[in-house]
Amino acid sequence: MRIGYGWDSHEFKPGIPLRIGGIEIPHPRGLSGHSDGDVLLHAVTDALLGAVAAGDIGAYFPPSDPKWKGADSVIFVREALHQVHRAGYTIANLDSTLILAEPRIGPYSRKIQEHVAELLDIAPSAVGVKAKTPEGMGTDNAAIAQVVVLLVRNEGRELAELEALEQELEGVGTGGILKRGRN
Ligand SMILES: [Zn+2]
Repeated sequence: MRIGYGWDSHEFKPGIPLRIGGIEIPHPRGLSGHSDGDVLLHAVTDALLGAVAAGDIGAYFPPSDPKWKGADSVIFVREALHQVHRAGYTIANLDSTLILAEPRIGPYSRKIQEHVAELLDIAPSAVGVKAKTPEGMGTDNAAIAQVVVLLVRNEGRELAELEALEQELEGVGTGGILKRGRN
């Protein structure tokens, strides 16, 4: 078994879409910064990479590279999942906490849970999505995500089989408002 932990934060900026866990949430402000600013998917990516000691998101997708400006963060999760499979593991479960003043995540948490589960090819019951407001932290203009993941040895599933599965997951979209896989 392996455990992984990921943390990320992004600042709110007016007039850009808010995407959390690959789900677009109606809000006047979105998260700026690396790629589409999807704070949850970035923390998921780092948790997966960390669990197999395969570096971090910035090593694969440097924020300084204009190629990743506005990129769909699903691409990062896919790469991390690939590293997990290559290392001989699959995901047992994942838990996350979002810390943001607004909007309220409650009405979207199930959608986020189901979408993250779909991206990772695990059951929604293996994905925890919790949200809190940042009481006394002074981070009201930021969204923070923390993620832990547990991996188990991938018994009996060959890498080729898992890679075929990754190909299938390529079809799992996010709403398609952003360009994907640009080169
Ligand atoms: Zn990020």
